[in-house]
Amino acid sequence: MVQLIENQRKFFNSNQTKNIDFRIQQLKKLERVIKENEKLLDEAIYADFKKSSFDNFTNELALLYTDIHEAVKKVKKWAKIKRVSTNLLNFPAKSYILPEPLGVSLVIGAWNYPFQLSFAPVIAAIAAGNTIVLKPSELPQNSSSAIAKIVNENFDPQYFTVVEGGIPETTELLKQKFDKIFFTGSPTVGRIVYMAAASNLTPVTLELGGKSPAFITESCDMKMSVKRLIWAKYLNAGQTCIAPDYILVHKSVKDKFLQAAKKEIEQSEFSFKNGNYIQIINERNVQRLAKMLDANKIYLGGNYNTEERYFEPTIMNNVSFDDAVMQEEIFGPILPVIEYENIDDMIALVKERPKPLSCYVFTSDKKVRNKILHELSFGGGAVNDALMHITNSNLAFGGVGNSGIGSYHGESGFKAFSHYKSILEKPTFFEANVKYHPHTQGKLNLAILMLGIK
Ligand code: NAD
Repeated sequence: MVQLIENQRKFFNSNQTKNIDFRIQQLKKLERVIKENEKLLDEAIYADFKKSSFDNFTNELALLYTDIHEAVKKVKKWAKIKRVSTNLLNFPAKSYILPEPLGVSLVIGAWNYPFQLSFAPVIAAIAAGNTIVLKPSELPQNSSSAIAKIVNENFDPQYFTVVEGGIPETTELLKQKFDKIFFTGSPTVGRIVYMAAASNLTPVTLELGGKSPAFITESCDMKMSVKRLIWAKYLNAGQTCIAPDYILVHKSVKDKFLQAAKKEIEQSEFSFKNGNYIQIINERNVQRLAKMLDANKIYLGGNYNTEERYFEPTIMNNVSFDDAVMQEEIFGPILPVIEYENIDDMIALVKERPKPLSCYVFTSDKKVRNKILHELSFGGGAVNDALMHITNSNLAFGGVGNSGIGSYHGESGFKAFSHYKSILEKPTFFEANVKYHPHTQGKLNLAILMLGIK
């Protein structure tokens, strides 16, 4: 491990990654390597989760290709020196900001979208000119091996390499000195990563999770809202960091919502056979989800099979914030429904809890929309939709408070792996002499004038 990091540092210090053409070549190479191995990746993720190749393409690989295309197209612009104005005190001079790569980076991935969550930060790291050690999640074992195979057979380890493993290997990695750590996973492990990074003052991006609410207000377009929401909730069997975790529905439309949601689930035909549904990652998680159920509150579904890692799309009704299902991020196909009468009371209750990664507002009432968007703190979200904000790379993606630190996608990803060096450049033909001795009243008056503070 020590040798690996040393080699990467040596390579970084050779300045090769600072060359923009080198970065573009590596991005194109990564695209080619993923494309050539699509079949291998499809097979691996199917073996782990029964995830269909349609889903693998649309919610993993396609996002990587669009990220790579954007980075290839824009990296020159992102890496450009940016001129800024100079203050009068420094006149005459130029001021500019010079982006530089942070150096040797560590990317730690989560299991739920194993390819997307491993490679998307890598694309940002390459574009910004870093070297990379990637540690994918060990839980989808076949996907992790496939990632290691395609990277380690095609890239020079002193530039980009994959280290596979679980807690012991990650703990060992975290003892090393990196220049950047990018972590995707739970808030609990996020804290461990943050503490390890602190000992070397290593900057971090922490992409974490939490309980993301979806508001269904009286004025929403029920048919369209439910269609979009049910898709977003049960995609990947609910194992999505930005999935709507629970519903806050106005009392007057609750029954309408429940009926529409039931109908939408039935029409969606979530099953392994037709490729519309995927397995829960492991038996432990099936059991974890089962413990959240309350037989008296199941409105739809509730069946599961631990051995087959199947968990039926489930809706729970008449839920309160005290129920087991509301105590932790669900990260599975259970949708608790909480009714409200007064939006202010609901906002107050959400505010008492850790800041969510996402929030969704289904409404046609601008006042209600603005109220929720301005009064609640959360990572990001959507109005009259769910999940889809992640596909717009102009919308920096990340959490706040318990749901994360920092953001990425598009230029914000480049920024996450860069330091912005601020430079003041002065010519030598003139010096105002105000700062030098002797300190006279005239100089003081001039300084005050130049600073514009009186
Ligand atoms: P996790 O925190 O258990 O694991 C994430 C990574 O950390 C894995 O690579 C794992 O090997 C490593 N790890 C686990 N325990 C560790 C320890 N004790 N010390 C060091 N490393 C350790 O998370 P997960 O189960 O893979 O993913 C689920 C969580 O991730 C959910 O909370 C979800 O919301 C969140 N998530 C967030 C995003 C996002 O973009 N914000 C995306 C996907 C998942």
